Amino acid sequence: MSAAPPTCKTCRYWSDLVAKKADGAMHVEALCLSGESDKRGDYTSERDTCPFWAINSMGAVDEPGRDPMRYRRPSKEDDAGGN
Ligand code: SF4
Repeated sequence: MSAAPPTCKTCRYWSDLVAKKADGAMHVEALCLSGESDKRGDYTSERDTCPFWAINSMGAVDEPGRDPMRYRRPSKEDDAGGN
């Protein structure tokens, strides 16, 4: 099994909701939602990449219909069994 290439297309920060067609509709650009990337807030193509890429195995961070907290880092309260 080959690993997913580290491009925006497979990055969890590549928006599922804010996207547009580009280059005469030959490909799609979507908004980078990373909190750390220099490309935050820019439209990037599916072939772009950056050092802050992270796999989208649970979907994009803004994918509709999913638990919005799925990528949240566990807190100390979680370790203690709190809410
Ligand atoms: S620019 Fe980087 S962080 Fe933003 S979507 Fe692309 S790979 Fe992900």
